Amino acid sequence: MLTESAPLKAVATEGVHIHLDDGRRLVDGTSSWWTACHGYNHPYIRAKLVEQLDRMPHVMFGGLCHDPALTLATRLADLLPGDLNHAFFAESGSVAVEVAMKMAAQFWLNQGRRGRTRFISFLGGYHGDTLAAMSVCDPDEGMHRMFTGLLADQIILPMPVDEATQAQFSEAVARHAHEVAAVVMEPLMQGAGGMRLHGPETVRFIREVCDAHEVLLILDEIATGFGRTGTLFACEQADVVPDIITLSKALTGGTLPLSVAVATTTIFEGFLSADPLKALMHGPTFMANPMGCAAALASLDLFAREPRLAQVAQIEAQLQRGLSPLAEIPGVIEVRVKGAMGAVQLHPGPAPDLDGGLPLDALRQRFSDLGVWVRPFGDIVYLMPPFIISDVDLQILIDAVGAVVEAWSGGALAA
Ligand SMILES: *Cc1c(COP(=O)(O)O)cnc(C)c1O
Repeated sequence: MLTESAPLKAVATEGVHIHLDDGRRLVDGTSSWWTACHGYNHPYIRAKLVEQLDRMPHVMFGGLCHDPALTLATRLADLLPGDLNHAFFAESGSVAVEVAMKMAAQFWLNQGRRGRTRFISFLGGYHGDTLAAMSVCDPDEGMHRMFTGLLADQIILPMPVDEATQAQFSEAVARHAHEVAAVVMEPLMQGAGGMRLHGPETVRFIREVCDAHEVLLILDEIATGFGRTGTLFACEQADVVPDIITLSKALTGGTLPLSVAVATTTIFEGFLSADPLKALMHGPTFMANPMGCAAALASLDLFAREPRLAQVAQIEAQLQRGLSPLAEIPGVIEVRVKGAMGAVQLHPGPAPDLDGGLPLDALRQRFSDLGVWVRPFGDIVYLMPPFIISDVDLQILIDAVGAVVEAWSGGALAA
């Protein structure tokens, strides 16, 4: 069950296709983990990267700054809601989450309010694989039991979506506010923790409770950011402005590793001081890498001049039409669609193992046999294609999901 076949060898990408060394060409249903929103090898991003490569691939960001980072910070501030306007650039989503958590904790420290070092987060959440990020993940997903003693002890609650869980959340925030720096959450859609959805009213409720108890709110939009849920940022649908937002994944249009934590004026001002000990204690070597920033600027240009959000709306409608009927198949627990993401949750079977009990390897193999790149995890088969996908290619993905789920349900796919 835990054996996994060797990875397929990718030799090239183009548009919505991944080319393998055996000559096959797979239609990509994953956007390479949420990243390739404009499809692969977009000529405009490539051209901008070549320009930046010729001029300055990298320079340190301590004591020096550069236009790609300054312009990107300004453009992100213009696009983000409210006064989210001070950017800290790093190289991966996990590190952006670490930085956001440090910012929140040090914000309170700098005001002399000691002891506010814990975080509240949610079951089903995923925030990355470094140690602080892991500590706010779902306890199973984040392997909290295995790493007891290594991970900080956080307060992890059910998503407050009904009266009982809302009461539980309010009560926990009231009780722990004195020791909590911030609430950390993925708005509207929890991604790698299981593709679970909640409504905008839940995000608003969380913001209100945080405000009532002077607890900061970090929205982790590393997966949801840049259009995936239908608006450029998911928080727009909730009309909520967090104190800090984290972005990565589609930030560079799926080309280079770059992430950012963006804070509001209030958070930023909490670090303005003549005392060097009050500066934000973080400075990665490749901070604000100019190539990454150039790719992100090119990606933002594409969002500005190509109809990405309209494409997401079309994908959403086609996913709804195509995947909803699968809910009738025996063993299918639920079909969930939000923006350019569609997930089919399957019954994990009688003996869930680390993979949740599904014959993941057999499912994945069947997908590549059908000429598509779809990678189920846990108990979820999901599609999150590049936004530029044609309706013909999207239908190929949807039909493949239908065929594989049917085969699994009929017992044709075993571990
Ligand atoms: C992927 C992800 C991360 C971690 O990003 P990495 O670049 O893999 O470190 C954090 N939060 C969310 C919501 C993610 O989807």
